[in-house]
Amino acid sequence: MGRLQGRKEREPFVLEHASIATGDEKGTVQKDMSVLVSADGRIEQVCPTPLAYVPSGYHRINATGKFVAPGLINAHTHLFADGKPLSGGTDLSPRVVDAALKVVHSPAGRVLMDARIKGTVSTLLNSGVTTIRTLGDVGYEAVRLRDRIDADELTGPRMLAAGPLLAIPGGHGDPFIALSCSSPEEARRRTRENLDHGVNAIKVAATGGVTDATKLGEAGSPQMTEEEMAAVCDEAHEFGVLVAAHAQSPEGVKAALKAGVDTIEHGSVLDDEMIGLFLDNPRSLRGFSALDPTLSAGLPLVKISQQELGISDIVRGNSELVVDGMVKSAKQAHENGIAVGVGTDTGMTFVPQYGTWRELDYLVRYADFTPAQAFHAATQVNARNLGFDNVTGSVDTGKDADLIVLDEDPAKNIRTLADPKLVIVRGKPVWRPEVKHFEEIDRLLDSF
Ligand SMILES: [Zn+2]
Repeated sequence: MGRLQGRKEREPFVLEHASIATGDEKGTVQKDMSVLVSADGRIEQVCPTPLAYVPSGYHRINATGKFVAPGLINAHTHLFADGKPLSGGTDLSPRVVDAALKVVHSPAGRVLMDARIKGTVSTLLNSGVTTIRTLGDVGYEAVRLRDRIDADELTGPRMLAAGPLLAIPGGHGDPFIALSCSSPEEARRRTRENLDHGVNAIKVAATGGVTDATKLGEAGSPQMTEEEMAAVCDEAHEFGVLVAAHAQSPEGVKAALKAGVDTIEHGSVLDDEMIGLFLDNPRSLRGFSALDPTLSAGLPLVKISQQELGISDIVRGNSELVVDGMVKSAKQAHENGIAVGVGTDTGMTFVPQYGTWRELDYLVRYADFTPAQAFHAATQVNARNLGFDNVTGSVDTGKDADLIVLDEDPAKNIRTLADPKLVIVRGKPVWRPEVKHFEEIDRLLDSF
């Protein structure tokens, strides 16, 4: 499997005779193009082949018959697990929880976690994902990795790292991947605590979740109040940091939107007021909120038999309560011109780190997107939703060279994204990208 590599001299290069899959909403392809990538990792020029002049020292790559496309962006990842079933739906005793927490937060635990997420991030990169946002980490391991990548010690995707999310005591993610708070003041303080640790994303739990619920009906039940989430948004927005909300019921989505969150994760059936708030949200950082439907985290839990999934009755029951709403909101958002992004909830049960392409496939099959629109969502729309549209998300002069080279046009055949031939991140090529597949999981995911 391709590993994150250490520092390497960047070599300027030019991809010649490529078809460019632009990632626009119509799926426009530009034929027989050249893409010049400078030594500082930027796209220097995009123009028809042959170039009038290729500067000396540029490595020439013949991309005849290949498609060059913007790298994928995954707006919702967890790096601590690989996508095999998580044991949810069981009530752990406080003693067991305490012992487990001591281990993961010990110096040795941190070293292990740092090593583990280096592996999961490598898988994401090797599967063509050049920008990620983590939304719920054990500690600040994603912040540490992001800093090493940004310092050019390692080759990896551009990262927004949230650290632990914020939740009510005993709420979604608490205590393993959340900090708890029970008043607006405390929510503000916890936000500050994360920002002081260097996070550049914030996540709140507006409702309960599926994976860690201990009761039927917990997924989607309202948790953080609008006032608490508004305090988080105020604090985060002051530092220019976007806020994501885990929300799996209409009440939760509405409270989070009113509080001013910038992205809703998962979603639920929308009414006119919510649709209006997505399109024009005065309390959000940029005046709008986006939806990340994360169908990848929901559909397998209701489409595959419980026995094959290896999940508890509680996880299955809660999935059945919320997944319909997720699918409906994705459709409604698409119909109403709401910005729909691609996030998969990697690391959750049956969401391998290499399966970002599946979310695009689900948007087509379950939410009425065209393949071109789904690819657009994973690139240009996601870049804008995450505030990166000036640096990534398209094959344009001046942007970072975050590119994938594919056998086919992803706006026609999404599955070609499962097997990129070359991944380039900030101008650094990952030759022969490769991931380790879980064949049994792939087989079950292919079955519906
Ligand atoms: Zn998540």
